[in-house]
Amino acid sequence: MSKVSCLLSPICNITIAMRAVIVMLFIIPFFTVNAKVSVNINIEQPQHHYAQLTIVFDKFNREKTSFHLPTWRTGRYEILNLANGIRDFSAVDGNGNSLKWKKIDKDTWQVQETLNKKVKISYQVYANQLGKRTRHIDDSHAFIDASAVVMYSDFSRDQQHLISLSVPAKWQSVSGLDLGAAPHQFIARNYDVLVDSPIETGINEHHKFSVDGRSYELVIWGKGNYDSAKMVTDLKVLVQQSKHIWHSYPFERYVFMVHATSGARGATEHLNSTIIQRSRFKFSSRKDYLGFISTAAHEFVHTWNVKQYRPKGLVPYDYQHENYSTLLWLSEGSTSYLQNQLLLRGELMSSKEFLESLAKRITGYIHKPGRQSQTVAEASFEKWSEEGGDYDKNHSVNIYSEGFLVSWLLDFSIIEKTNLEKSYRDVHNVLYQNHKIPKSFDEADLVAIINEITGEDYQDWWQDNVHGIAEVNFDKLLAKAGLTMSYGSKEKNKQKAWSGIKTKQSSHGLQIIAVEKNSPAWQAGLMLDDIIVAINGLRITGKDLSERLKNFKPKERLRVTYFRRDELDTRMVVLGTTPKDKLKIVPLDQVSKNQKAFFKQWTGIDFPSS
Ligand SMILES: [Zn+2]
Repeated sequence: MSKVSCLLSPICNITIAMRAVIVMLFIIPFFTVNAKVSVNINIEQPQHHYAQLTIVFDKFNREKTSFHLPTWRTGRYEILNLANGIRDFSAVDGNGNSLKWKKIDKDTWQVQETLNKKVKISYQVYANQLGKRTRHIDDSHAFIDASAVVMYSDFSRDQQHLISLSVPAKWQSVSGLDLGAAPHQFIARNYDVLVDSPIETGINEHHKFSVDGRSYELVIWGKGNYDSAKMVTDLKVLVQQSKHIWHSYPFERYVFMVHATSGARGATEHLNSTIIQRSRFKFSSRKDYLGFISTAAHEFVHTWNVKQYRPKGLVPYDYQHENYSTLLWLSEGSTSYLQNQLLLRGELMSSKEFLESLAKRITGYIHKPGRQSQTVAEASFEKWSEEGGDYDKNHSVNIYSEGFLVSWLLDFSIIEKTNLEKSYRDVHNVLYQNHKIPKSFDEADLVAIINEITGEDYQDWWQDNVHGIAEVNFDKLLAKAGLTMSYGSKEKNKQKAWSGIKTKQSSHGLQIIAVEKNSPAWQAGLMLDDIIVAINGLRITGKDLSERLKNFKPKERLRVTYFRRDELDTRMVVLGTTPKDKLKIVPLDQVSKNQKAFFKQWTGIDFPSS
């Protein structure tokens, strides 16, 4: 098309299809919902992971306007450099005249001469981050978390957004967002709702069900060994259990999005939806299915804990910077803790499975040297710079696992202090009732809530367990609920040799991936990334070290030959001891009525019969 015949000159260089979309944006009166910001996401080349964005903003009352892409996304407390996937930015006014712009920082495009003008910005997004649950487009689907795709200005954040997708035929679009007038259209009350309501569009399996007058949807992208009928049956049960913690629902409609895929796993909570990613063949066995339904329970708990109430520092979200809080352990660890309440009360997890998972957690705490180096409050604050790996395990705690532990300690303390009348669930219900966003809460609010529930002063408890190193006597703790720890009854106290090393078979050989602090291997001086080549002069390859260790007894000496940065060396490891059998949690020999009642108040189910 020639320049002369092109009436909308700034968009002459893009495709006819795209031009049609942009003409629609300006001319067709789809502002029937009085939208202030109109967003078109054109997925015209899904096989190349591209989306073309066009966003039309109402008039601005300033000379220069900055448009940002968030630098992180909700639910993942980590700077992600999302703007790196943006190319071909341009801006025009309502008459199609080009506006000058410049990039002023890594996430910000500043457009000039915007005073009293409608502004339309356009750009291309490269969407190929499946595992980060930010943006992913291919020829079978697109997953869109708007924080990774849709720019905003500080002056439009509160305005209504109308989202319109242009997608290949046969694609189905699903989101927790309100539905627009046409297919593939959604409406967000404001930008905050938009970024917390991802869109899944593509070839997918879509189920709808309702429970207690609320609508639910399950949408699954990808092939796998899942049984969607069973998933629907169990999700129907799951969503009814929240009433044991909170006494009302903050939504009318909720969407479970599932990616059955390869190379991506994890999940993220959103306002009235969740995205759960699992390996496509990790749905079928009982262990795998329990993993799926536990994740669904975790994300559903977040619908209240984080999405309805969250700590000061995260309200309102600052999308361009870290949002610091010393209470992320409550946002994540308490969610892991409360997910069990839903699973047990809905009989989606047996008491045996629950006690097995608890035993696994206790084993994890026992082998977490980082508990001596960091408090849960510090771990919460440092979450934004957490790197994981060997150093973190030895010198840090985790807001999930140790957050679970502090939640558990608090729950038992409240149950005991209130003579089995109240529990940690009451703390969360008060947070929901009294600290709903746009309010927030801080540590003083929490101590006040616990004081009110128990009639006691929890300031010292808080200092000891949240800002201190919680020393836990697990046997004493479990005994309150009639339980105890056991390493196997037949061969009591049987020990096996222990080195404290974890290895993996890498392309270089048997590589050390973790050395537990103060373990025999730590004391001998073995390090992360050493390549072990021989034990006592005999080559070791292709087999895990634990296999070879079965031939040794505690206190025996192990001559470990290894490469460190290609230099050969040897260290002597004096083997330590570890229980031969896995830790189990079992009922005490004698269980009182009160202990059984404690267990019931804790879990909502009867004390296990054997
Ligand atoms: Zn979580």
